[in-house]
Formats: sequence, C-alpha cells, structure tokens
Amino acid sequence: LARNPGEREFHQAVREVFDSLGPVLAKHPQYVDAAVLERLCEPERQIIFRVPWVDDAGRVQINRGFRVEFSSALGPYKGGLRFHPSVYLGIVKFLGFEQVFKNALTGMPIGGGKGGSDFDPRGRSDGEVMRFCQSFMTELYRHIGEHTDVPAGDIGVGGREIGYLFGQYKRITNRYESGVLTGKGLTWGGSLVRTEATGYGTVLFAERMLATAGASFDGRRVVVSGAGNVAVHAIEKAQALGAHVVACSDSAGYVLDERGIDLDLLRQVREVERERVSVYAERRGATYVPGRRVWEVGAHVALPCATQNELDEHDARALVDSGLLVVAEGANMPTTPAAVALLQDAGVLFAPGKAANAGGVATSALEMQQNASRDSWTFEHTEARLAEIMHDVHDRCLATADEYGVPGSYVAGANIGGFVRVADAMLALGVI
Ligand code: NDP
Repeated sequence: LARNPGEREFHQAVREVFDSLGPVLAKHPQYVDAAVLERLCEPERQIIFRVPWVDDAGRVQINRGFRVEFSSALGPYKGGLRFHPSVYLGIVKFLGFEQVFKNALTGMPIGGGKGGSDFDPRGRSDGEVMRFCQSFMTELYRHIGEHTDVPAGDIGVGGREIGYLFGQYKRITNRYESGVLTGKGLTWGGSLVRTEATGYGTVLFAERMLATAGASFDGRRVVVSGAGNVAVHAIEKAQALGAHVVACSDSAGYVLDERGIDLDLLRQVREVERERVSVYAERRGATYVPGRRVWEVGAHVALPCATQNELDEHDARALVDSGLLVVAEGANMPTTPAAVALLQDAGVLFAPGKAANAGGVATSALEMQQNASRDSWTFEHTEARLAEIMHDVHDRCLATADEYGVPGSYVAGANIGGFVRVADAMLALGVI
C-alpha cells in the first residue's frame, strides 16, 4: 500500500486476487521463493504524458495520458484505453492488473496492459475528439507496436476513437501496421464480432453458468447496467437466447421497460444520436428513474456492464430478495467486495469480470491473428471461436476451483487459473 499511495481501486483489485491465492501458494512454494506476487504488483513500465490539444473555441486544453504496461510474460501487452474524467493512475493500474489474469485465462499469447486519459469525450465535437486522439497518439506511438503493446477500446473509446488513433499512428510511423491496435473498422483491418464480443461473451458465459444449475436464459428476467458497447451487445445476445431484458442504465439513471428493451430504439438513441437513456424512455413511453441504480428492479440474472464498484451490498441484497440466480460481470470490478461476499453466501452463482468479460480481449487476439495472416474470417467462424473460448474459460474456472478445494467458486477459479499461467511463464523466463 505504501508503494502505491491513494490508488484505491488498484489496492482493491490486488487484494481480491491475493485473497484467492492461499491454496496455490501452499501447494507451490516456488512462486513465493521467486517473489512472483511482488513482481506481479509492480508494472513492467508506466508511462504518463501530457496531451495538449486545441478545442473548437481555439483554447488550449491539457489532459493527462497513461499507458501502464503491466506484464509481458505471455505476449505483447494487451488491453484497452479508457477516456473518462475519472481516469487516474489508480484506475489504469487496477485495470492493467486485472487484464494480466484475464488475458492469461483466455489461453492466448497476450500479456496485460491498460491506458487512457482523463479526457471527457461527452459533449465534444467530432473535430475535438479527433484532435485529442491525434495528440494522444503523438506520444503513445513510440511505446506501442504489434510485437510490443497493442491497445484497444474501453469506456469512451469505440470505433471512432480507434480510427483517429490508428490514422495518426500510420501517419507518424509511415507503416500500415494493422496489428498495433484492435477494435478497428471492418474495412481497415478490423475483425467481425469484435464490437459484439464482450457483451456476447458475457452472456455466453452466463448461459453456461445457468446450465450448471439446470437452468437457461429462456423467459428469465434480466437486468443490465450501462448502455454502452458491452451493455447493448449483452442485451442483444440475452434476448436472442429468449431472456426478458427489462432494464438498462447510464451514469444519470435507469430505464425500466417491462415490455422488454427495444434494442433498435436503444441503439438509435445511444449509438447514432449519442443521447442518454432518458431519451429512450421518453420515446418508448417507459419508466425513467433518475439518480438511482438499476438493481432495485430485481432480476434472475444481473449483468453489470457499466463501470467499477457500481453494485454494492445494498444492491446485492435487493437482487437476492428478488430471486437472483446469476451475476456475470461484463464490466471490470463492478461488484464491491462486500457485495460479492453477500451474493456468494446467498448461493448466487457469481462470475468475476476477468472471466466473464474475457470475450472482448480474446476476440482482439483473433483480430491480431487475422491481421498477421492478412486474412478476414466470417462472422459465423469468429463467433464460433468466441463461444468456444468462453466455454473453455468457464470450464477451466470450475475445474481449477475444484482442484484447489474451493468447488463452485468462479472467483477462486479465475484468479488461480490466470495466476498459475502467468507465474509459470515468469519462472521460466527468469528474474526479469
Ligand atoms: P462505453 O463507454 O461504451 O459505455 C459505458 C457505459 O457505462 C455507459 O452507459 C456509461 O454511461 C456507463 N458509465 C461509465 N462510467 C460510469 C460511471 N462512473 N457511473 C455510472 N455509469 C457509468 O464502455 P464499454 O461498454 O466499452 O465498457 C463498459 C465496461 O466494460 C467497463 O468496465 C470496461 O472496462 C468493461 N470492458 C469493456 C470491454 C470492451 O470490449 N469494450 C472489454 C472488457 C471489459 P454514460 O454514457 O452516462 O457515461
């Protein structure tokens, strides 16, 4: 803690992983001898930089940019960029730390990293977003590369931002290096299914969880938080599996639509008009509740897909009382530690983001494979690969939890499964 003062979210993420590792350290003391835990907590490299840009009124604006290259034991650093005013080093480090274990769990050859900026894209014009992205990449380009570090999107960074970032990288380096970023557009090196992958993957994971309890999505009441990339695609896949998705949200409030969310309207409002869910509620004639969290409406399946620490003990209690069966995290660390404990004690199946939302980064790795072979796969093929990976991550979590004496714990299975893979590579590579 003393080495990383004030980085609350980072401390929370580290504690959550370390709490699971007792059984593995007892069984394999070589990890302790080689100081694997201490090394894993210290990023290999942390870059913080100034991002100056000029707004539409001609004023100079200054933001702070970050890239934390956490671990390259398994492959090039891989992880998204987040543009949100709440971004500071503690957020980037928590996300980077989580990413190391998540990427390991996918079984793919990717290390972990994360980056971003305290830039707020909300209310900014297209031109402002472009100038910001160009300035951000003017520093970042010297640290990234197909074999070094491969960023992608996250909160506030979607296809538009990846386009501006890639354009500036290409311009500065004079290289059409498709593999340097993932989440690209389909006509310039992107992969089918990448946009959908995190939300789809989370639902495929939850489907597998339900199956272990002899249940399915069919007819189940589902509540999703957020209305961004992950949330929209989680809603789409859950509906395709027969679920009744009744609510979603943004940072201002939530919408309750007992007839079931109208996905076309939601996409129009969010993706085309970049408006709030209150506008959806108004047009649809659904209930809008400002300033409150979506969990109070109750559900059989809860999919937190917005941001960290958005589902607390109080929310968990309300969900359990409404007959909750499953929580699968589409976002990173959305459930507070006290809420996780409450859900587990109540017998709810709970899957942490590093397992349940691994479909996004896994499909990024598939995009890298397509870029490397100058190929592009069909939607069906890529989605089948995604489904196979999610089922594999799910089953590996359960098998690992069994092996280490904590049967049924997706938290322990994910943390131990990811840790062992990274730790073994670190032992093999020596003290570096
Ligand atoms: P988007 O920017 O597309 O959407 C984010 C959504 O969450 C918006 O509805 C936003 O509301 C809401 N939100 C953001 N910050 C807050 C906050 N502080 N309080 C309440 N609501 C908030 O991001 P994504 O959908 O891409 O990402 C969502 C989550 O999924 C994040 O935790 C991210 O790390 C995780 N994730 C994303 C992956 C991806 O492939 N994109 C991969 C793996 C994980 P508003 O519009 O009002 O800000």
